[in-house]
Amino acid sequence: MSLQRSRLTARVAYGGLGRPVEHGVVVMQDAAGDERILFVGEADEAERRWPDAVPKDAGFAMSPPPVNAHAHLDLTTMPFVEDAYETFIRAVIAHGRNGGRGLEAAKRGVAELRAAGTHTVGDIVADEVTMRWLLSEADVQGVAYWEVFAPDPADADRTFEDTVEKLRAFRALERPGKMRVGLAPHTPHTVSTPLLQRLARLAQANDLPMQIHVAESPSEVTLHATGDGPLRALMGPLLANFTPSGLSPVQYLADLGVLEARPTLVHGVQVDEADVRTIQRAGSVVVHCPRSNAALQCGRFPWELYAKHGATVAFGTDSRGSSPSLDVQEEVSAAAGQHGARANPAALVWSAVKGGHRALGSTPPRIVRGDPAEGLVTWRVQVHEARPVSDI
Ligand SMILES: [Zn+2]
Repeated sequence: MSLQRSRLTARVAYGGLGRPVEHGVVVMQDAAGDERILFVGEADEAERRWPDAVPKDAGFAMSPPPVNAHAHLDLTTMPFVEDAYETFIRAVIAHGRNGGRGLEAAKRGVAELRAAGTHTVGDIVADEVTMRWLLSEADVQGVAYWEVFAPDPADADRTFEDTVEKLRAFRALERPGKMRVGLAPHTPHTVSTPLLQRLARLAQANDLPMQIHVAESPSEVTLHATGDGPLRALMGPLLANFTPSGLSPVQYLADLGVLEARPTLVHGVQVDEADVRTIQRAGSVVVHCPRSNAALQCGRFPWELYAKHGATVAFGTDSRGSSPSLDVQEEVSAAAGQHGARANPAALVWSAVKGGHRALGSTPPRIVRGDPAEGLVTWRVQVHEARPVSDI
């Protein structure tokens, strides 16, 4: 029987346990086509223990498959928008009115995810047909978050009752190894205060994963601070009953007790250090979508501030409407480009794998000796690091 061993060197080698190893090595053994992982760790140790293994270059990283912690699969056929956040929202509404959202787009989205090697996703779901398909048929794992959009406090009771009923029906469709049901109040300003509080308590009491877009655009910060600005102009009568708290969007959520449900916070771009501290203390994971943030002129995510305070960061692609692909590896590559030397390569990989599983409340894979080679993916993207630091 032919037995071949190889030592694959990567800028980052990660088996899902502990900290990713920089300039690490994966040792693989191929016994007549049956390829197994022998080791993930330090290069010196690999060379000492398997001196005869054939050295190979594996590029940027080898790790368990990265997680796409935030997507809108039902927007997969939407044309890509590179413009202000408010222009994007108008385009999403128009795309939906033209019948572009829904099951067929979500199916294409899942196919794109699988082609990119992603098995685990956090998806925001806006219609019941797509939700039922995701829970019972789609060949992906993760969380399908039911989206709630109800800015008028007068609608709070009715929307709450309706949401409870829908979630009950969706949960009955959950199957082991498939997607779980979650809850996604859209943003802190498009769900009224009483409803937001009730939804957060509901999620907490029922152990429902929750995800909310927050601190995405500069206009969101202005709206919460003063009640004015481009978002107010965009939403018009929808925000007729919105009263600004005068707080940052993150502090507003903290003030309402919403962070007690430990929601996963999507974007978290427009934050200050106090916000980051609040997020870390709450134990919420933040999903970083750098390409969407750049396309919609939302600013640069303060990666170094989250790192300084030890907050957990995951990666998401957001929708195809604001991102050129659903490939989370490309998202990480874009993040490295935006943050330059401020983002450590090992931390980027950790976030894409472990951070993603934490965001969705799932168990990350841990590679042990003898596991099949498929347990680790060799990243396709090149990640250029230590570029000159430049803000977008
Ligand atoms: Zn989103």
